[in-house]
This record gives sequence, C-alpha cells and structure tokens, in this order.
Amino acid sequence: MAHIGFVNFPAVGHLNPTLGLVAELVRRGHRVTATATDHFVPAIEAAGAEPVRYRSEFGDFYRSPFTAEALQGEGLRTLDEALTVVEQLEPGYQQDRPDLIVHDFMAWGARFLAARNDIPTVRTWPTYGVHEKFNIAATYPLAQFSDEKVMEMLGKLTNVLPEFNLPADPMAFFQDVADHNIIFLPREFHYEGDSFDERWVFAGPCLTDRSAFQGSWRPADPDRPVLLISLGTAATGWPEFFPIAMAAFGGSEWDVVMAAGDHADSAELGAVPANFTVRRHVPQLDVLEHATLFVTHGGMNSTMEALYYGVPMVVIPQMNEQKANGMRVQELGLGRHLAADETTVDSLRNAAAAVAGDAAITENLARMRDAIRAVDGPRVAADAVEARLTSLG
Ligand code: UDP
Repeated sequence: MAHIGFVNFPAVGHLNPTLGLVAELVRRGHRVTATATDHFVPAIEAAGAEPVRYRSEFGDFYRSPFTAEALQGEGLRTLDEALTVVEQLEPGYQQDRPDLIVHDFMAWGARFLAARNDIPTVRTWPTYGVHEKFNIAATYPLAQFSDEKVMEMLGKLTNVLPEFNLPADPMAFFQDVADHNIIFLPREFHYEGDSFDERWVFAGPCLTDRSAFQGSWRPADPDRPVLLISLGTAATGWPEFFPIAMAAFGGSEWDVVMAAGDHADSAELGAVPANFTVRRHVPQLDVLEHATLFVTHGGMNSTMEALYYGVPMVVIPQMNEQKANGMRVQELGLGRHLAADETTVDSLRNAAAAVAGDAAITENLARMRDAIRAVDGPRVAADAVEARLTSLG
C-alpha cells in the first residue's frame, strides 16, 4: 500500500471535495497524510488521514472581502503560502517521503516540493479545469496580469522557480497542464466539458458525512418548505445582504436557515424574524437534503451540493468564478443569477418566486442530479490515483 500525501489549499471549498477521495483511499488500505491548519484537523481525521500541521499565510482558513484590491493581492499571498508550505514541510516529506502527492491546483507549494524532490503528482480541481484551449479566466478574470500586485508576484515567482528545478518562466508555470487531473465537477456542468481529454477525470462532487466535525441538522417541521441562505465561508463580508434577506423572507411560508458566516456580528444583523434560524455556520449538506430553495453566493461546492440534492438556486455572486457559476446555472436552467448590486428585497423575493417550483427547472435539476449520482465520485477518483501509482511501477 502506498503513502499518498495530500497538499491542500487552506480554504473550506478546496478541502471539502477532497474528503470523499481521502476516505476512499484510506478504505482501500493506503496511508494518507494531508496538510492542515488547526481548523482542518478534525475534518482530515474524520476522513481517516493523518494531518500534517503547518501555519498558513491565510490564518485558520482562506477568507476574503473580495474587493478588487484584495483580489489583485491574492496571487502574491498564494505564492507566499506556497513558500511557507515548502519551508515548514519539506524536511518532513524528505524523511517520510510520499509515493505520490495529490495537490490542489492552487497549492503551488506542492508543485515546488514535488519538482525539487522528484515526487510524482496528481492535481485536483474543486473548480473549472484549465487546458491549452480553455481557461475560465479568459471570460471571467480574477485579476489582470498588468495589476501592480500581480506583476510583483510574477517577479517573485520568476526568482524562486529555479530553486525548485523549474524554468524561470511564470507563464509556463501557469500554463502547465498536468498529465493527471481529478476534477470535482460533473462534465455536464463544466463549460466546454467535452474539450477535456484523457488527462482529466471528472469525479463530480465527492460528498461525505461531515457530522463528526460539523454536527447535524433536521427540519423542525417536515411539512414546511426549507429555504437555505448562505454566502459560503469566504464571501460573507457583505453585511448589508443579511437584513435584505430577512426583510425578503421574514414572515413568509419558508422555514429559513441562514448561515451568516464569520464577518457579521449579531448587532449588525438586527432583529431575526421568527421563521429564521440564523447561525454562523450550518451543516449545509443536511439542510440541502431537505431544502426546496437555496439562495447562495454560488461557490462551486455550494453549487455542486445543491445540484446533488436537486435544489434550485438563486445565485448572488461576489467574484468572477461565482459569477461564472451563476451564469452557468442560469444557462442550464437550474436556477437564476442575480447581480449583487441589483439585490433588493423585491428582486430577491421575485427571483425566489420565479425559481421555486418552476417545472422546467425542476426537470433540469432532476437530469443533472441523475448525471451526478450516476458517477461514484470517490471510487472514480481513487481509481485514478491508484492507476497513477500503478503506472509508477
Ligand atoms: N459550508 C457549510 N456550512 C456553512 C457554509 C458553508 O458546510 O455554513 C460548506 C459548504 O457546504 C461548502 C463549503 O463550505 O462545502 C463552501 O464552499 P463553496 O465553494 O461553496 O464556497 P466558498 O466558501 O469557497 O466561497
């Protein structure tokens, strides 16, 4: 059996989809280690892996206000994160060498470590993949290569790449397409999904039971429809949104579960309507299992999880990847996109009314749910990892 070292990017939305794969590899008898800030240790242990602790540049886990300025600086922070991962973890990996590194596409430190220590890799994608002819950033850019902070990152990357036996060419670093990729989306949802060749395995969302580290949830009254409202884990720094949502759905027929996140304090939220349950975090999979509508920021995991449970969405994105998801949800008739700057009590209520119970949306959701459930994601992904191990001899 092999030692498989997962190197994660420390964001909930990047780690969650790997957990099903980790659990399946452990079930098959492999020894799995996985990088973790303290925040992620319980999730990694629940999946049966050994956490490899380190201190991240992002603190407990990645959060951002998603302003244009913050987004420009993300490349530099991601590079600093990669360098601190190498500094803190390379000696340990040299002593306890993984046979294979499985790493998030944004965990650049894994690529540095692997190149310098000659360890084979598999790259994982909790979002759209990138190949020679497809890059979602061409349509929905996160930042421009001409931005000052991006230029600074490119300069720094150029200087450090040779230290890892990689060419001093940052564009080659970003344009590199790995030979082995696992993507946690169904091909049916991916833009231009058919353009991805045999280097890509579409595992879909690899959902796992999270009750060991997240608790669980059941509806108080199974006869009332449940509406979940959440901006995810990173994009919750929009305090004006929550009062709008409470005004739109307070006193309505919905039993509303609202995850307000870490940014807003309860004073900012104001009075909570009687039909609302408000928490910082909720066990999202449990709520979605019972929900009939999801008002979401359109993070990729939230989107996938809603599709897995066949829940129609109103997607209110705050950054471009989420916008790409919202537009895709709308284009495939799975819900509706609502721009953040057009979100008012009325527009939110109208979007919810247009989506909930719409016959065409219900039919499209059933088709997408069946496509997702037809693939045993953890099995398909673990098969890909084992095939890679076998090819190494
Ligand atoms: N999540 C959760 N409870 C919450 C908020 C989020 O369990 O209260 C989970 C959600 O199920 C998803 C992840 O956190 O798996 C968020 O990932 P996503 O890609 O949707 O958004 P991000 O937080 O990365 O913006």
